[in-house]
Amino acid sequence: MKALVKARREPGLWLKEVPVPEIGPNDVLVRVKKTGICGTDLHIFEWDEWAQRTIEVPTTIGHECAGEVHAVGSHVAGFKPGDRVSLEGHVTCGYCRNCRAGRRHLCRNSEGLGVNRHGCFAEYVSLPAANVFRLAPDIPDDIAAFLDPLGNAVHSALSFDLVGEDVLITGAGPVGLMAAAVVRHAGARYVVIADVNEYRLDIARKMGVSYAVNPREKSIREVMSHVGMEEGFDVGLEMSGSADALRDLLDVMNYGGRVAVLGIPAGPVGIDFGQVIFKGLVLKGIYGREVFETWYKMTSLLQAGMNVTHVLTHRYRAEQFEQAFEAMRAGSCGKVILEWTG
Ligand code: NAD
Ligand code: ZN
Repeated sequence: MKALVKARREPGLWLKEVPVPEIGPNDVLVRVKKTGICGTDLHIFEWDEWAQRTIEVPTTIGHECAGEVHAVGSHVAGFKPGDRVSLEGHVTCGYCRNCRAGRRHLCRNSEGLGVNRHGCFAEYVSLPAANVFRLAPDIPDDIAAFLDPLGNAVHSALSFDLVGEDVLITGAGPVGLMAAAVVRHAGARYVVIADVNEYRLDIARKMGVSYAVNPREKSIREVMSHVGMEEGFDVGLEMSGSADALRDLLDVMNYGGRVAVLGIPAGPVGIDFGQVIFKGLVLKGIYGREVFETWYKMTSLLQAGMNVTHVLTHRYRAEQFEQAFEAMRAGSCGKVILEWTG
C-alpha cells in the first residue's frame, strides 16, 4: 500500500510502498479515505527539535482520519467490515490508575498514532478496536477527517459553563476556529478571537464571532470597550501556543475566570502568577479528547447544527502531499485534507 513515511532523520516525507499492517486479535484494520494534516505532522516534516527527540524512523505519520472498517481481529465485537469510522489517536495502556478509573485522556503511558506508532497517512491503518469510533451516517467524511482537532476544541470549551458568558480565544488556527463555533453554539454572549494571521481572522468572521482581532494592531482591552464589556472575560481558551498570547489572555480575564490551556508552547513560559492568585483564576491544561465522551458530544453538536465547514479550506490527493504541506507552512489555510482511497 501507499504510505507517507518519515523515512530518514532529515527534513521531508516520502510517499512509499509499504506492507499493509497486520492486525492482532483486538485490532481493527481501517481503509483510510480522508485525513487531516495537523501542526504535529508539519513539525515531523520539518524535523524540528521535538521531532528529532520523538520520532523513530521509519514511521508512517498522521492521526486525523475518516475511513471504513476493512477487517477485524478475532476478539473484536461491535465492528464489522464496511462500518464508517474515525480514530482516537491516543492509544492508552489500560493498566495505569487513570485508565483503570475510566479517565483514558489522563493515561500516563499513552502512545500517539503517527508519532510513536504507524499512523493513518496510508491506504490502511491498524488500531485497537478501543480506539475506533463509529460515525453517524450524517457526519460527512470531510468533517470526520478532522474530528480529532474538533475534539480538542470541544474538550477545551465544554470544560466550563458557557451560557451567557464572555469568551476570549487566543489563536485562530483550526482548533481555535472550531472552539469559536462550539462556544457560539453553546450560548456564549461575546466571543472574541485573537490571531496575528489575517487569513484566519477572516475565517473567524465568517464563523460569526463577535470580534476577530489582530493584537499587533488593536489591544484586546480596546475590543472589550468596543463590544461593551466592562469587567473582563469569564472564559479564556489559549489555542495559539504563544507565550505572549497566554500573558495577554490572563491580563484580560475577569475575577473568577476560567482558562483552558491547549496551545503547546515551544518551551517553558513565564506568567504573572499574581494574575492567577489575586483574580482567583482556574487554569486547566487540556491534552487530547475525553475518550469517548468528547466524541459523542461533538457528534451531537454537529447533528444539532453546529457548523465547522468554513474551517476546511484546502484538499489534496495523497500524491500532492508536498503542496499540502506547503499550504500548511504558508499559514494561509484553515484545515488541509489529504485524500487516500476516495
Ligand atoms: P495552529 O498552529 O494552526 O494555530 C495557532 C494559531 O495561533 C496560528 O494561527 C497563529 O497565527 C496564532 N498565533 C501565534 N501567535 C499568536 C499571538 N501572539 N496571539 C494570537 N494568536 C497567535 O494550531 P492548531 O492546530 O489550531 O492548534 C492550536 C494549538 O494547540 C497549537 O499550539 C497546537 O500545537 C496545540 N494543540 C494541542 C493539543 C493538545 O491536546 N493539547 C492538540 C492539538 C493542538
Ligand atoms: Zn494508562
